[in-house]
Formats: sequence, structure tokens, C-alpha cells
Amino acid sequence: MTKHSTANWPALLDFDQQHLWHPYAKMPASTPAIGVNSTRGSRIRLADGREVIDGMSSWWAAIHGYNHPTILQAMHQQLDTMPHIMFGGLTHEPAIELAQRLVKLSPQGLDKVFLADSGSVSMEVAIKIALQYWISLKRPEKHRLLTVRNGYHGDTFATMAVSDPENGMHSLFTHMLKQHLFAPSPQMGFNRTSDNTDIVALEALLKKHHHEIAAVTIEPIVQGAGGMRFYRPDYLTQLRTLCDRYEVLLIVDEIATGFGRTGQLFASHWAGISPDIMCVGKALTGGTMTLAATLCSAAISDAISAGTPGLLMHGPTFMGNPLACAAANASIDLLLSSPWKKQVQSIEQHLQTTLTPLSELKGVADVRVLGAIGVVELEHSDLGPAIQAAALNENVWLRPFGKLVYTMPAFNIPQCELEQLTQGMTNAIATVLNDSQP
Ligand SMILES: *Cc1c(COP(=O)(O)O)cnc(C)c1O
Repeated sequence: MTKHSTANWPALLDFDQQHLWHPYAKMPASTPAIGVNSTRGSRIRLADGREVIDGMSSWWAAIHGYNHPTILQAMHQQLDTMPHIMFGGLTHEPAIELAQRLVKLSPQGLDKVFLADSGSVSMEVAIKIALQYWISLKRPEKHRLLTVRNGYHGDTFATMAVSDPENGMHSLFTHMLKQHLFAPSPQMGFNRTSDNTDIVALEALLKKHHHEIAAVTIEPIVQGAGGMRFYRPDYLTQLRTLCDRYEVLLIVDEIATGFGRTGQLFASHWAGISPDIMCVGKALTGGTMTLAATLCSAAISDAISAGTPGLLMHGPTFMGNPLACAAANASIDLLLSSPWKKQVQSIEQHLQTTLTPLSELKGVADVRVLGAIGVVELEHSDLGPAIQAAALNENVWLRPFGKLVYTMPAFNIPQCELEQLTQGMTNAIATVLNDSQP
């Protein structure tokens, strides 16, 4: 049942533009946002009545498409019994069942679960856990973080400080951000056999600074918002070994990669490693509710509990929100009962076939595909808005950023819609690049 919209869109959009911040936007916005009336599967119904194919899964999240009846039903049921209850001193089935699922599915040894409200918060908690661990072991001098360039871990202050110093927000907030250590980005290429210069540089930093480093933070296999870069599993395997050798915790940020996106349930699985701390978010609820989680090993929680004050010092008001947990449980069950691996492989193949030819175009720097992620990197960073508009003309929703035009469709997108999506994407890129040539 789609609710018929009687909204006065021109007035609403005008108010939106004048009063409502959007992600990384001007106030008032330089261009008005596009009104949306409803969603269904891989389709978005816009305010002007048009239905467009969704290429973004609402930023990695809607892996089953929108309004999946199984998730909606679980949410309706939870809504009727208990939409929310505080988590301090109280508990409930949706949270317990979610923790059971996460412990079971995540890499071995990650037994302890902290439910957070968003990806950034889960990374804040991960960093706090790492710092509290070393404080508890009476080694408070281990308080810096080591990470790699081109990373992205969130928009809050602790996470900004471990995101890429150039394309992130460092220059703006330098005086407010803790100065961490940055190794070069892992060399690009999932299948690349590497000379290990990247690992050598990382080890040099560990060797020099390990006495003051609490943890390494990294996005496994796919660096998302910091550049949409893919790298080899062997890098992670070596990183795990180095972290053990130099007594540094490994924090793996699976917020974008978790729940199948790269072709493994978690990207860490490509390397067969277990991090000490892991974050999930984005696709956790199938794109329905904001929820994230930080998992850690018993060794870490034991140390924190044995230290002073003996408590993990974090506890959001809406921690473990039952409605979000119910959505997550339904989404995870749906994923596991679906042929998601096959679906992701078939999307990967289709993206390879349809996007790779774009690399011949003047103005395209690189085309890369991994799992259900397709990236076209342009030579110039100013064509995003034109490509977004051209794609919309083809009834496709894309949200390029900088030089990157990319898609990460829902795993269950019907073949004909996937074809429409890549056709629209390639047409939009070709048209805009063609028009931009002198
Ligand atoms: C999106 C993202 C975050 C931040 O999550 P929010 O829910 O936006 O706070 C952190 N790390 C990675 C890898 C992400 O992709």
C-alpha cells in the first residue's frame, strides 16, 4: 500500500533548502534536495512522481532493497510490544538475540558486544575500549592510534582524527584533533601481488612508536568514503601478525564492508583474521534503522573489568533500541537465508562487464569492481553534480563524490533493474565526459 502524497512539495522543498542541513551541505543549500515520497525494492518514488532505480542502497545500508516485508513485519511486531526501553539495568530479547547472532557470525574470538547508535559512535567506543584496555594494564602511555591514509572512520572528533588527513577534515580542525600516526594507504588492487612497500612502511612506524600506540584502525579490504580503494587480503594477514608482534590492538572497521558487500560476510574473512575489536553498522538493520555495534575479545573486556574504574565508560540513551535490534535480527536472518553470495557474485560480474569499458573513455582514470561495489574514478572532481543529474535523467539515483562515481546496489536487485542501473550510469558518465571535452 503506498500512501498517496498530498504534500505541497514546492513549499516543503523551499523550507528544506532554507532550514534543514543535509550531509556536508551549505545553508541554504546551493541546489534543492530531491523530494522522495516512498521506496520499494530497488526503486525510489520521487516527489515529481518518477520512479528511479537506486544505485546507492542508502550508503551501503539497504542490502535487501527497501521495505522488505520480512523486516517490516518484524518491526511492526516489535513496535506493538516495545519500541524502546532504557538499557541501563534492563534488557530484552531483541538485543540478546542480536548479540547472539553477532558473536556467532563475526570472526572468532569476538565475544563481547556493545550496541551503539551509529557507525561513528561504534568507532568512538572501539577507540575508547582500546585506550581503557591499556590504561587498565597500567600502560597509559599507549594512547596513540596508527592508521593508514585514505581511511574513513566517521564524522565525530575521535574518528575524524583517524580519517584521511588530506581528504578528511584535518586541516579545518587540526588544533582540536589528536595527532595520530599515518602509514601510507595499502597499495590498490584486491588481486595485486605486492612488493609489500606499504607493509614495510607501516612496520617502520610500529617499530618506532609501538610503546605509545594503543591500536591500529583500518577498514578491511575496501577503503570506503576515503577513496573507494580495494586492497589485497594478504595486507590484512600481515597487519594482524605485526599487531601481535608489537603489542598493538587491531581495530577493524567493517561498517561499510560487513554483511556481504565484498562477497564475504565480513571482509576480514578474506584474510581469515580475527581483529581484537570490530565495528559494524550501515547494513546491520538492512538500512531501516540507525544501529551499530562494537565487538571485542574477552581478553580485552577482562582487562578493562580488572582495571580502574572497571567499567566501560560509555552508555548512550538509546543504547540497544529494541526496534532497531528487531530490524537487525530480521535483516541478518533474511541475509543468511538468501543466496546472497551468488547474488553478490552475479552483481560483481555484471558490474565488471558493463563498467570496465568506461576505462577507455577520456577523463576516466580507473574502473574497479569488488563484490557488489562498482567504482568509476574520474580524472577531475567537478563533474559529480552533472553526472548525478544526467543519471537522474536516465531514472537512476547515484550520489558521486569528488572524482568517484560509484554504485553498491541491493543484493536482490532484479536483473532488469541492475541492467537499467548500469546502463544509466554508463550513459550519464559518457554523456557528461563527452560534453566536458574542450
Ligand atoms: C559510514 C562509515 C562510518 C560512520 O558511520 P555513521 O553511521 O555514518 O556514523 C564509519 N566507518 C566506515 C568505514 C563507514 O563507511
